[in-house]
Amino acid sequence: MNKKVVGILTLLFMIPLMVACGSQQESQTSETSTTAPGLRKEPYAQEQFLLGTYTRIRVYDEGKEAAMTPAFERMKELGDKITINEPDSEIDEINENAGIQPVKVSPEIYQLVKRAKEYSVESEGAFNLVIGGITQLWRIGFDDARKPSDEEIQQALTTLDYQKVQLDDEYETVYLEEKGMIIDLGAIAKGYIADEVATILRNEGVTSAIIDLGGNILVLGHSNRGVDQPWKIGIQDPNDARGSIIGSIEETDKTVVTSGVYERYLELDGVKYHHIFDTQTGYPIENDVASVSIITDHSIDGDALTTLVFAKGIEKGLAFVEENTPEGTDAIFISRDGEVYVTSGIKDTFELSTESDYRMAE
Ligand code: ADP
Ligand code: MG
Repeated sequence: MNKKVVGILTLLFMIPLMVACGSQQESQTSETSTTAPGLRKEPYAQEQFLLGTYTRIRVYDEGKEAAMTPAFERMKELGDKITINEPDSEIDEINENAGIQPVKVSPEIYQLVKRAKEYSVESEGAFNLVIGGITQLWRIGFDDARKPSDEEIQQALTTLDYQKVQLDDEYETVYLEEKGMIIDLGAIAKGYIADEVATILRNEGVTSAIIDLGGNILVLGHSNRGVDQPWKIGIQDPNDARGSIIGSIEETDKTVVTSGVYERYLELDGVKYHHIFDTQTGYPIENDVASVSIITDHSIDGDALTTLVFAKGIEKGLAFVEENTPEGTDAIFISRDGEVYVTSGIKDTFELSTESDYRMAE
């Protein structure tokens, strides 16, 4: 794999580290805990560098170690189809045929692109699946990241019309109407892949597992800490790269996806340019969000929503999650000045760490 490919994979898939803390530490420190019947105290665990990040699966069901093999295979297969500049990349093929012709893609990639377009429409472009023109200019997270000229940005802004992504449900083709349009699914791909991995594990008979795609966490079933016990999931401190947590929530069969400004940025003359872009200006979004975590049933939604509500900022982002998402979807925002905001569904279950310097907002 050449450097460029590795770089693009990284751009697509790196996300801020969020720690799925716990199940093990918890069970060891809690005096009353017992391991649930059929589950292991210590999971079968595997880690692979895939999707440009460290991906980890922990399976707690006794005898189900082999389930991880097809799960990792699927992860790699989907990653290859979605990333850019790889022989097997279907997204690449769509981009190369912008302004030329529709491209037939595999059913799962069609559904992913379709979902990404729906999010673009629903958010009026705050989330924009054809953000590629902008992300390829800045290349935040790569060695060759730079601040583009205003002229370049103005030019790239003309390639962001998501309404010009034509989808044909019958033939499962995708057509970008204008030359220069570039699909970039970095804001949604890992979530989609996490869901696929969960499906594979379930089909293999796994009932209790943690999937961690570089911080995109999905907890399957109950924790091993006893009968019907939820998992305890830590929320990372956005100002501490060492991975300390500011608090935690308890969930069963849920996914927690986090996006933050702290992980990847370009620093120039004391200004930090991070990796989530304002699709109106072509510059990184400037607002009060240090990080946002979305808790939801499907990781694809969690991933898309982190980017979407990040773009909206804390106040509008909270309102969006309360009003425009199904029951069971919640958010935790951490502001740049250390305040924590949570939506109504997790007011009682989110627990701020006692050692934390952060405080709950009013
Ligand atoms: P992370 O990479 O930290 O997981 P996200 O899930 O929010 O964070 O994805 C960020 C990635 O999404 C960027 O690296 C880029 O590829 C893409 N992106 C940036 N801005 C937007 C946007 N406004 N709409 C859609 N995708 C975006
Ligand atoms: Mg996202």
